[in-house]
Amino acid sequence: MTKTQPIFILPEGYQRMLGKDAQRNNIMAARQVAETVRTTLGPKGMDKMIVDSLGDITITNDGVTILEEMGIDHPAAKMIVEVAKTQEDQVGDGTTTAVVLAGELLKNAEDLLDKNVHPTVIAKGYRLAADKSQQILQKISEKVTKEDRDVLLKIAMTAMTGKGAEAAKEKLADLTVSAVIQIADEENNKLIINLENIKLEKKVGPGIEESELVRGLLIDKEKIHPGMPSKIKDAKIALIDSAIEIKNLETDTKIQISDPNQLGAFIEQEEKILKNMVEKVAKSGANVVFSQKGIDDLAQHFLAKKGIYAARRIKKSDMEKLSRATGSRVVTNLNDLSEEDLGYAGIVEEQVIGDEEMTYIRECKNPKAVTLLVRGGTEHVVDEVERAIKDALGDVAAALKDNKVVSGAGSTEIELAKELREYSNSLSGREQLAVLAFADAVEIIPRTLAENAGLDPIDVLTELKSEHEKGKKFAGINVFTGKVVDSWKEGVIEPLKIKTQAIKSASEVAELILRIDDVIAGTSTEKESMPSGMHGMPGMM
Ligand code: ADP
Ligand code: MG
Repeated sequence: MTKTQPIFILPEGYQRMLGKDAQRNNIMAARQVAETVRTTLGPKGMDKMIVDSLGDITITNDGVTILEEMGIDHPAAKMIVEVAKTQEDQVGDGTTTAVVLAGELLKNAEDLLDKNVHPTVIAKGYRLAADKSQQILQKISEKVTKEDRDVLLKIAMTAMTGKGAEAAKEKLADLTVSAVIQIADEENNKLIINLENIKLEKKVGPGIEESELVRGLLIDKEKIHPGMPSKIKDAKIALIDSAIEIKNLETDTKIQISDPNQLGAFIEQEEKILKNMVEKVAKSGANVVFSQKGIDDLAQHFLAKKGIYAARRIKKSDMEKLSRATGSRVVTNLNDLSEEDLGYAGIVEEQVIGDEEMTYIRECKNPKAVTLLVRGGTEHVVDEVERAIKDALGDVAAALKDNKVVSGAGSTEIELAKELREYSNSLSGREQLAVLAFADAVEIIPRTLAENAGLDPIDVLTELKSEHEKGKKFAGINVFTGKVVDSWKEGVIEPLKIKTQAIKSASEVAELILRIDDVIAGTSTEKESMPSGMHGMPGMM
């Protein structure tokens, strides 16, 4: 008999973790991520201060921002960060909710694993529960249209409650809702909303209250010549994406000039061409020109003489927005420029904001692109206000896109959990256990809201559940008073999409992590492959 030799199938330095160890390790890492952001959930949630390796500071309670700034490394933890990112892309808000939910699903799965329920059974049960949740959520949602401005304002305010924007949330909610409705296109009775058409411009300045909605655009460009007017009323705007310059001669072109007259003639010729170009602009009737490319010094002078306002090197994305805001058509060849190509704005003017000269294009007629100028006392404030506004924009857009909303403050989660428990009665054995675990997990949202508000979660949850049993589907927590209230009446309203998306991505990632029973990891550098503790050993250099 020969002794069996161990067989190595992996290259040296690879690490492998199998079965329960792999599972527990992944679940633990994922749960840690969720734990990190959990304290920030809700209006009473706390903020995090993140200092990066360069010493830059971010203060936020925005889930996705925290997780991105943290630079998380563990593979399973990274999968949770992806959940936050998906939520951010799909809705723009609800990132903390999605992550906290994923963490709780995994925590409850762990309890089932301890009871020897097989991971695939748990995954299957979670799948059933997640699908059923989508139906339940549809059922308990309410309808909203763009005429329900009151509801839309409440959605925007709910998104901003307890955030940096809190101080001026009424005003900001008004700007947010106006902006989204303004840029919405209607097609076959459906609203098409592309938030790219709302330009967020932030400037440190007096205070949040000074934030404004520009019915048009604000671009960080100044007029290019001091002789130009600083303000044009009834602006007729030409957008040009070619240079108002004489094309550079090829580098190897030589011009032989043998006497001074020739030089004079050459310069005169140049002048004539530029003058001619400006003439074409003026002939179209334009009194404002925005060029994506350059404008020659001499051409600037001619434009100024004609009383035309001009700015150059405008970003392509701004050119597109200018076109949507003013109705102007971007023209490439000056010869083609005619009156029909021009757009309109009530006012185009140069103004100093903060310490920078900027150009306002205001009072456009039914602009399909607008600008939200966000102000705030300091850079950190402006940044956090901007994040809160982004959440609000995402929520209002999501509500209008599928016309459905739900009440917040934990009410929807309690109702969902109740219905899921009812549904579990139709299942048998272990799957039923998994669906019940799922229902319990959903309650992490109201529980966390209560905890973060310094309330007793058990008391609050008991009362909430009993109200829901009585058929009050809007019963939620007033985190400021600790009372159970009708959250719809209190104006805590969120788009349905926040909830459906959070459930979808959280359950998907939980299932994915549960199905892993083997982690095989290569190491990227020599040094790291050394087991820890060896670095400091004498003789190991
Ligand atoms: P997320 O990143 O998930 O959006 P938030 O910190 O924005 O995290 O918290 C959202 C949660 O706070 C939701 O469950 C929402 O219903 C709740 N919430 C918002 N406003 C209120 C309020 N005024 N009272 C109680 N709960 C609220
Ligand atoms: Mg939010």
